[in-house]
Amino acid sequence: MSDNSPLRFAPDPWRLRETAPDTTAHFLNETLFALGNGYIGVRGTGEEGYSGPAGTSMDGTYLNGFYESEPIQYPETAYALAKTNQFMLNVPNAKGIAVYLEDERFDPLHGTVEAYERTLDLRSGILERTLRWTSPSGRTIDYRSRRLVSFDNKHLLALQVQVTPVNFAGTVRIVATLDGAVKNLEAGDDPRVGSAISGPTLALLSVEHDERFAALVQRTHNSGFHLVSATSMHVGTAHEATFAQDGLRLAQTYTVNAAQGQPIHVTKYASYHSSRDYPEGELLERSRAVLAQAAHDGFDALAQRQADYLTDFWQQADVQIDGDDALQQGIRFNAYHLLQSVGRDGKTNIAAKGVTGEGYEGHYFWDTEIYIFPYFLYNKPEIARKLLDYRWAGLESARRRARQMSHERGALYPWRTIAGEECSAYFPAGTAQYHINADIAYSIKQYWDATGDIDWLRASGAEIVMETARIWTGIGSYDRKGRFVINEVTGPDEYTALVNNNYYTNAMAQQHLRFAATVADKLAAEYPTDHARIAAAMALAQDEPAEWRRAAEAMYLPYDTELGIHEQDDSFLSKKRWDFANTPADKYPLLLNYHPMVIYRHQVCKQADVVLALLLLSDQFTLADKRRDFDYYEAVTTHDSSLSSCIYSIVAAEVGYQDKAYDYFMETARMDLDDTHGNTRYGVHTAAMAGTWLGVAYGFGGMRVVDGDVRFAPTLPTQWRSYRFHIHLHGCLLRVAVDAGGTTYTLLRGDALRFHHRDKPVVITQQNATHTEAA
Ligand code: BGC
Repeated sequence: MSDNSPLRFAPDPWRLRETAPDTTAHFLNETLFALGNGYIGVRGTGEEGYSGPAGTSMDGTYLNGFYESEPIQYPETAYALAKTNQFMLNVPNAKGIAVYLEDERFDPLHGTVEAYERTLDLRSGILERTLRWTSPSGRTIDYRSRRLVSFDNKHLLALQVQVTPVNFAGTVRIVATLDGAVKNLEAGDDPRVGSAISGPTLALLSVEHDERFAALVQRTHNSGFHLVSATSMHVGTAHEATFAQDGLRLAQTYTVNAAQGQPIHVTKYASYHSSRDYPEGELLERSRAVLAQAAHDGFDALAQRQADYLTDFWQQADVQIDGDDALQQGIRFNAYHLLQSVGRDGKTNIAAKGVTGEGYEGHYFWDTEIYIFPYFLYNKPEIARKLLDYRWAGLESARRRARQMSHERGALYPWRTIAGEECSAYFPAGTAQYHINADIAYSIKQYWDATGDIDWLRASGAEIVMETARIWTGIGSYDRKGRFVINEVTGPDEYTALVNNNYYTNAMAQQHLRFAATVADKLAAEYPTDHARIAAAMALAQDEPAEWRRAAEAMYLPYDTELGIHEQDDSFLSKKRWDFANTPADKYPLLLNYHPMVIYRHQVCKQADVVLALLLLSDQFTLADKRRDFDYYEAVTTHDSSLSSCIYSIVAAEVGYQDKAYDYFMETARMDLDDTHGNTRYGVHTAAMAGTWLGVAYGFGGMRVVDGDVRFAPTLPTQWRSYRFHIHLHGCLLRVAVDAGGTTYTLLRGDALRFHHRDKPVVITQQNATHTEAA
């Protein structure tokens, strides 16, 4: 690490290890030790439950895309405000396993803990805890638990507990629970946390059970989904079993006559199946089948598959940094959490907090397209494609939303959503962020540039790009000088709202319009049948692509000649600068301490805005422009959004500010591990996690992709001996390794690849798979 701030975890390149139970950090560590597989997310709370002080825990289980909806209550309403919120539900807790030694309950917060370790291993995908614990009356046990959320089967969670009486023999009771009496978090003053409902989140339809099996069959109150949460218990030692139901809480008790020194083995499999995936009538049967298969395979076989999946993942996607173990840990931890969080079924996406917590209510934002999508595109392109499929699935909702917003044509994607409908209740920092349309088109262009997947473009991508482009000609207009202007929008910087000609929005819309026209022409020329089908579906007028081009060519891109910088919008530079010198540290983030209007009135940015355009549209700026913009906007940016520092790091690297590049990078890389934004307890920051990877590849690696042409311009931070990362491009896998001697490119898969090293063209082939450029 570059500074001397204390690390919350000992540096370890592959593991996260906690060595004592800690109630003060418990809430936070529940997030960090959360497990997930893109569908199920289980926070790191112990299977025995938690008896610490109120407010120090949120034991949650979440299913990506499984949500409840409720009307948004506005004290004062207006036309076409988002009507209904969707939020990720806390679903029944299936991991409960309580252990009683005679009548004493195993609880690490009572009695004496003589040894303790909780480890998340990023290579095995298993969360493991080992303890030696002595009860208040002196019974000592060795306790070991292992837990995985299967990457192999999205419905499956598996737990294994081993209890060994060390100094006694007698009755040990294992109480396995399936607990539906769970709630979502109560809303507080922090708008980033969530809305929350009180009371049970799901209504009970029926309960099923036998000696091993237990299931809650439930439905949501408003969103109309059914859910079956089910468990299957396997206790190795001879036992008696009983069942009890207390409302929504099912408990199966296994009473064992335990011998001293003899371990009791307990395995619990749990599954979640919802009617978002299958017909209601199939859910129970499917649950039984998944659990029976898991029991047949056994925990060890599941663990092996988990490790195999991760071996493959790390082979394709690992970033190695030689020279800083704490950073290495942060980078891998971030990649691992991205993999745990991302929906990969085409129906779900990746929430701002993944499936680790309720912050931002499980909503998906532009975070996906601009931050997270490139991570998957270059590391696991099959998942990137699924993220695009999700937007394809949402096209109809986006069309409906456009009509609500009085656009006769086109589609407007929601600023935040789960199932595709707009859920942003605060439109100045929500719906007004029309740039989401251009962000989605940008990711489609990136996908096309990196994969050449014409089939996907023909089947889905082209229609999304064209329908969304129409919104710009809908909301924009030509001013008296003949400039195409876009008024009354909010750019990425949420400390400046409802402005005219936000630079980022206009520049991204320009690229979007050009791309849409190119796609339309390409289809018309090469795939006339697809063109005709899409044109019919969207009632495309013949002259529309020309209209898009004309608007793009006339697009107004505000520039202040005196300062030599791009203006964030028409009014930004005329506002008073925020008084940073007299703003005490405890007034940040500003959003928690000032009314939005106070913030909007000032020159102050929450996050990269123009500076983000410098990265995304990199070829449109000179280096001198970039430096001036960087200098100006850095001085007025608080980085109160976790999406900011990674972008500043990348642009700093490009303009030659190596120290800043490194410092901003470090802020991003261990943001959650060190809880630097102070809110990781509500979930990890997935955009920043992906931003770490962007910082390596785009920042230090100097990678840029312009119209399919890939360039690298690597530099080596002085703090590191070497680093390496991977890139998937056109079906090939490339490794880029940088050290003091230079850069070595290795083709790991595929036939041949062309790219540029700085300005020099390079071709590598299977015959000639390694290429080195001196530093
Ligand atoms: C940022 C947005 C972001 C959202 C979700 C906000 O704080 O300003 O840009 O989309 O968080 O991560």
